[in-house]
Amino acid sequence: METMKQYSKQVKRALLRVDFNVPVDNGAITDFTRIKSAIPTIKHLLNLDYNIIIMSHFGRPKGWDNTFSLRLIVDPLSKMLGIDVMFYSQHILNNETGKLPLERVVLLENIRFYKEETSDDYAFSKHLSQYGDIYVNDAFGVSHREHASVHGIKQFFKENKYKGILIDQELKELNKIKQHPAHPLTLVIGGSKVSSKIKVLEYFLGIADNIIIGGGMAFPFIKLLNGKIGKSLCNDAELLVALSFMKKAENTKTKIILPIDCVISAEIKSQAKTLIVDIKEIPDNYMGLDIGPKSIELFTLVISKSKSILWNGPMGVFEINEFSEGTNSIARAITDELNQEIYSLAGGGDTLAAISKIGINNKFSYLSTGGGAMLDFFQDHSLPGITKLKSLVDLHN
Ligand code: AMP
Repeated sequence: METMKQYSKQVKRALLRVDFNVPVDNGAITDFTRIKSAIPTIKHLLNLDYNIIIMSHFGRPKGWDNTFSLRLIVDPLSKMLGIDVMFYSQHILNNETGKLPLERVVLLENIRFYKEETSDDYAFSKHLSQYGDIYVNDAFGVSHREHASVHGIKQFFKENKYKGILIDQELKELNKIKQHPAHPLTLVIGGSKVSSKIKVLEYFLGIADNIIIGGGMAFPFIKLLNGKIGKSLCNDAELLVALSFMKKAENTKTKIILPIDCVISAEIKSQAKTLIVDIKEIPDNYMGLDIGPKSIELFTLVISKSKSILWNGPMGVFEINEFSEGTNSIARAITDELNQEIYSLAGGGDTLAAISKIGINNKFSYLSTGGGAMLDFFQDHSLPGITKLKSLVDLHN
């Protein structure tokens, strides 16, 4: 039987990790940014005569579940590349020969169908590593995770491991905010939980001039200020995190800016009845589900006086029209024609989805494909999926 070594002499094989975790609605892809973002690296490898084995995750499946199959990527990817991509739908751990079809581009089934992926399993990483003579990571969005296909796998490639073109680009753009941001620097942070974003909030204390806090995560702060928040998002753990943050913020130059009014409703559903109230006066049975017009005005003013902006997280339940005005208005304020001097960086799945929905993607200075990865990047430590990787542009024939 042909051995792995003989096999690899005949063809050069690149094992490529990308982030094809695309947003879907009823099984249809709603935004193709993540696929497009992987194209430069794939083309670069094809130009260097590599056959490419692509790995990606998609959603959070629990075991082998065809509703999370990556098959939906095959057509758009084939069209973008102008060649047929082969989909390898079989279980790779049953593949003892370590051989895959000799196609130019093979896409493996969702890597998260294997529980070994998220546990960074040694044997699984080793198994994956046999599919490539070189390893390339271009999945910026998961590079903050210690998962087998982005972290464990690197130990099996001594020299031949690279970061892709997208990752290089992400690092270059994020460093514009991390290393020499133009001031005033304003962070706009939203979403549901303070605790999931607290590290980045703390990192920017004393660095950013303003931190605007919107979305559900504003409510623990409002409660600490003796506001009545009804049934809005809040729990004891979040209150403690918010309290400790406010204490740390007191001794810094960073201004913390909270919403002053909000859109409330008794239910989170389309066509729900809504009211606008002072954010500290929410009746008992209501929830604050978006920032109100006065908050939009206040945030817009702060944004217009800024020179750089980092945005992550929606200002409300933007998925539902009735609660999307705050998020949409903030997206428009950041990209307003009058603000052309602003360096604007936005990232995170929900944030990008909101921006895409109103079709102003190209008005931002840069849109990061990372949510958690982008936030972790700012916390002054290197991302586990990126350390010890060389730049792909340094790989030649
Ligand atoms: P995160 O993953 O923490 O960035 O949170 C994003 C989610 O927060 C989105 O699905 C929003 O619908 C949700 N969200 C934003 N604002 C609120 C709010 N005021 N109440 C409930 N959920 C919210």
